Amino acid sequence: MKIHEYQAKEVLKSYGVPVPKGGVAETPEEARKIAEGIGGKTIVVKAQIHAGGRGKGGGIKIVSYPEEAEKAAKEIIGMTLVTHQTGPAGRLVRRVLIEEGVEIQEELYLGVVIDRSKACPVIMASREGGVEIEKVAAESPEKIVKEWVEPDVGLRAFQANKIGFGLGFESAQVGKMRNIILGLYKVFYEKDCLLAEINPLVLTKGEELIALDAKMNFDDNGLFRHKEIASLRDLNEESPLEVEASKYNLNYIKLDGNVGCMVNGAGLAMATMDMIKMVGAEPANFLDVGGGATAEMVKHGFEILMSDPGVKVVFINIFGGILRCDTLAKGVTEAVREVKVNVPIVVRLEGTNVEEGRRILNESGLNFTVAIGMKEGAEKVVEALTKIVRNN
Ligand code: GDP
Ligand code: MN
Repeated sequence: MKIHEYQAKEVLKSYGVPVPKGGVAETPEEARKIAEGIGGKTIVVKAQIHAGGRGKGGGIKIVSYPEEAEKAAKEIIGMTLVTHQTGPAGRLVRRVLIEEGVEIQEELYLGVVIDRSKACPVIMASREGGVEIEKVAAESPEKIVKEWVEPDVGLRAFQANKIGFGLGFESAQVGKMRNIILGLYKVFYEKDCLLAEINPLVLTKGEELIALDAKMNFDDNGLFRHKEIASLRDLNEESPLEVEASKYNLNYIKLDGNVGCMVNGAGLAMATMDMIKMVGAEPANFLDVGGGATAEMVKHGFEILMSDPGVKVVFINIFGGILRCDTLAKGVTEAVREVKVNVPIVVRLEGTNVEEGRRILNESGLNFTVAIGMKEGAEKVVEALTKIVRNN
């Protein structure tokens, strides 16, 4: 789960990481009031969406007086902001963050993520901040300083110092840097983050270090123990079908192809995606109904699958373990009767009660293509797609 910049900054602040003075506004009037409260010479008005690249996309304005902050907020609230991270459709801006302007001497990057190959968190820092860190990593990886953290031991102060000195700072700044690094890591660890990032971390003209932008992504599986974080969720920023799926405890991921996939279990989902690609087709999504799905859940899953206009063929690939094949078959036949399904459906079932499952499908009077193996299933999907192309 992602959160907004203004929320991430609140979290950082509560961990002792310096952030600019400011507040969030939903109307231009509120923006003006916050700006008046801040005082100072410059005010920054920042669009709040769950995507970066706002600066380049016109979602950040630096202005001078409270009236100008109101005007800038008026322009930004309600705009559809397109950045390299939103896709061409862009995102509707509902809120702006109003902050005191900071005089920038230098922009740094600081982030914590999991290094999967080393199975532990890694801290990354660079003096090439403000820009996309992926680009720095690709073009000049030597400009990124890294420090790996043994999770049981935690991040030690000397490691944080090493990062500061590694970036070429003097001891006074290394001390300030250390507190920010320790604070950011603490957030990452205590709140079950997948990513905690400050980009840019700014060195001001007055030699202060301050988090000018913040991004956090939390592990959904850890949210149950962080009610205060879960309450920051903004459903407006999430794909509507993914939100709908999560209501029924289904895992749904939207992709770009035309084969709608219903599977059970993440491993089988991966194998199914591979198989579809191997036969030359592209998945439109993957919908994982999980191990203990009921006929009701399968039905909702099917409705979600069918409301994606990109889906031209449905491939149901289920291994009946805890989810029995007859339960699945009942759910699918009910769903197909209720939802107007006008695309071919290929079903491959195996496992517990498979005979009963196949019988239900075959006797339903509905038009299913039943496949025996996974490869055969994928091939039948391609056959169906070819027919559709030929008929158009
Ligand atoms: P992003 O483009 O969505 O990542 O948004 P950021 O919050 O990172 O802002 C983009 C850029 O705007 C920063 O790298 C800064 O160069 C600039 N910026 C943001 N806030 C201030 C500020 O208070 N003062 C100045 N001078 N520039 C700012
Ligand atoms: Mn940024």
